[in-house]
Amino acid sequence: MNDLQEMKQLAFELEEDPDKVLPYINIDKGSIEALPEYLNHRGFKHVALIADQHTWKAAGKKIATILEQGGYEVAPVQITPNTNGQVLADEPSIVQVLVETPPRVDVLLAIGSGTIHDITRFCSSKMGAPFISVPTAASVDGFTSKGAPLILRGFKQTIQTVSPIAVFADIDILKEAPLEMTAAGFGDMIAKMTSLLDWKISHWVNDEPYNETAANLTRRSLYNCVDHVNEIAKADEEGIRILIKALIESGLVMLLLDFSRPASGGEHHLSHYWEMDLLKKGAPQVLHGAKVGVATAILIQLYQFYAEDESVFGAHTPRIAEEISRLPDYVDVLDWLQLTGGAQVPSDLGIDSALVHESLNKAFTIRDRCTGLYLINQAKTEDLSISWRSDHEL
Ligand SMILES: [Zn+2]
Repeated sequence: MNDLQEMKQLAFELEEDPDKVLPYINIDKGSIEALPEYLNHRGFKHVALIADQHTWKAAGKKIATILEQGGYEVAPVQITPNTNGQVLADEPSIVQVLVETPPRVDVLLAIGSGTIHDITRFCSSKMGAPFISVPTAASVDGFTSKGAPLILRGFKQTIQTVSPIAVFADIDILKEAPLEMTAAGFGDMIAKMTSLLDWKISHWVNDEPYNETAANLTRRSLYNCVDHVNEIAKADEEGIRILIKALIESGLVMLLLDFSRPASGGEHHLSHYWEMDLLKKGAPQVLHGAKVGVATAILIQLYQFYAEDESVFGAHTPRIAEEISRLPDYVDVLDWLQLTGGAQVPSDLGIDSALVHESLNKAFTIRDRCTGLYLINQAKTEDLSISWRSDHEL
């Protein structure tokens, strides 16, 4: 990965040893073919492949063949879906992986999207065996993270676990992922528009530590995706390569900082609020990136409305207004989301406008984190949805 050099620079700046903190990264066509050599180099013999029925077909089977031919002992674990036909990072999935993974295993391979990774990273940390990330869709920026968002007794909570020792992102596999997953990955990148802004706002208003190098790296990954939205929409080789690289870079920046600030702001809080509601209702879950992409367009609209409001941003209003004016218009964001075939508005995701309005007024309480959304809620006594709502129908 060309830009790993820049990640190393950021590591040095943060006084971290890049060789200890950063995983080995291989983004390429056919990168899974290089797995046996890597495992050999690390001295691993016994490998557990953690997948679900879809990702087993998409990649797991082929990886099993490659590794068996290379003389490795392979233990496949196919996680069973729930009654909605979905695999969740919850107790049944975790227990299945812990029960079915042989005790002598040297390394676990997470073969799948974000959920499979979260289950695997938790089990990996509990079993004391490292894990390798093999994403099957460019759908999320969390592959390299340490935090595992798990659903425990019906509530989502993020448990600190371990990050992967290596990432093998195979373009041939990622290209074949369902288009809605690629669109979700684009949504998770678009979210950096408001999360980077929220980080800066918090830095100015709340004196929160801010790292210019980290912000710039994340911003560059974001706009590289925007500049290549047509290629990403086609899911061609170049588009997929750009998107997965951006997602991994965003993840590595968070890993190095050891917090998610550059990549998670008010838009993630809105998405989280919606997710909790779906969980309460037992409704099928919606892709993370699809939710945050939609939430980003909403938040940009909200921020543009309050940009010059001194009752919200006080003495910081001029510079915050200037930052907000640099954001693309929310209509452009909706166009990009549409181009990739992703959801544009909450109703596309089965999220009704009542929940959206509630989240605009309550989602800021989810985390003790200063964002534009938090400041607007603090300053305003009226219902945000009413003052903000314009001609664009939620
Ligand atoms: Zn995200």
